[in-house]
Amino acid sequence: MSLWEKNLLDIEPYVAGEQPGNDKIIKLNANENPYPPSPMAEKALRELSFTELKKYPDANGAPIIRALAKRNELDEKNVFVGNGSDDVLALAFRAFFNSKKPILYPDITYSFYPVWCDLLKIPYKLCAVDDDFRIDPKDYYEENGGVVIANPNAPTSIAEGRDFIVDILEHNKDCVVIVDEAYADFAPYSAVELIKQYDNLLVTQTFSKSRSLAGMRVGMAFGSEKLISCLRAVKDSYNSYPLDSAAQAAACASVEDEVYFRHTVLKVMQTRDETAAKLRGMGFSVLDSATNFLFATHPDRTAEEIFEYLKENGVYVRYFKKPRIDNYLRITVGTDEQMNTMCELLTKLITASS
Ligand code: PMP
Repeated sequence: MSLWEKNLLDIEPYVAGEQPGNDKIIKLNANENPYPPSPMAEKALRELSFTELKKYPDANGAPIIRALAKRNELDEKNVFVGNGSDDVLALAFRAFFNSKKPILYPDITYSFYPVWCDLLKIPYKLCAVDDDFRIDPKDYYEENGGVVIANPNAPTSIAEGRDFIVDILEHNKDCVVIVDEAYADFAPYSAVELIKQYDNLLVTQTFSKSRSLAGMRVGMAFGSEKLISCLRAVKDSYNSYPLDSAAQAAACASVEDEVYFRHTVLKVMQTRDETAAKLRGMGFSVLDSATNFLFATHPDRTAEEIFEYLKENGVYVRYFKKPRIDNYLRITVGTDEQMNTMCELLTKLITASS
């Protein structure tokens, strides 16, 4: 092997949910929204001037930042946008986790965190969640180089409330605490209101789930002016233009359509709760979800077996062959019709085995 080959970066990248090309497949494996984006976003894209694409987009996303600041009752200096919250989180890890001390996060959480740590050579320590997959805030009292908590957590779907986040912030005043709120629009609590009180808190959110814009790649962060200006400096050291003109136009229109947003989020939550009840009726144990997905296990059939069975029958869910969660399935909430099809298939499987 030549020297340059030996010098290649050796990392294990994050593996996203499969994207099958076949439209007939019921795709419940990437926590996408089953409903289309706001019609206002569609209109904005149709009205986008093709010739204007010859120009660079607004580098800092001024119009979308203005819209997000207004909606969240914040100053524009408290808002950052990026190419999906994965981009925002990667930039935040780069900007804020520079200590020699390890950063802390739960052992069961978003599996991109270890990938960024390995890529950016950030030391980290995993804090084990309990047997009910709950996070103990006391695990985050020790000295550290930063904290990242997904709330609601993924893939468990469990949300913690204000007291939990405040507890972590009160015990971590010397480091940056990132709260990854990719699913917070489906949950009772968002920590955005705390950024005025805690200048070391960064909250990230996304347009990919509640706003049905996963394909446009729009994510954002809310934080103190200091944190946001540092994020901007890091972004401008990689690429000044992460959000393209089309994404900015669609995102602005989406933020302005509050009625459609609330309507779709409520619909997903309703289908989620109905599906959870049906699954429990079949003997599944389903964690209380505050997201757009369900995390479930069955006593009689292994998760891997159910995953393969559903896949053979055209329903894709997510299965993680990982310690502690390898007998669970993560099922994205689809339309009522999609969930009914899945439940009918599961009923057949479960009754066949009893
Ligand atoms: N955080 C969590 C917990 C997620 O599950 C996801 C979706 N994979 C993301 C962040 C990133 O989402 P996006 O880049 O689409 O905003």
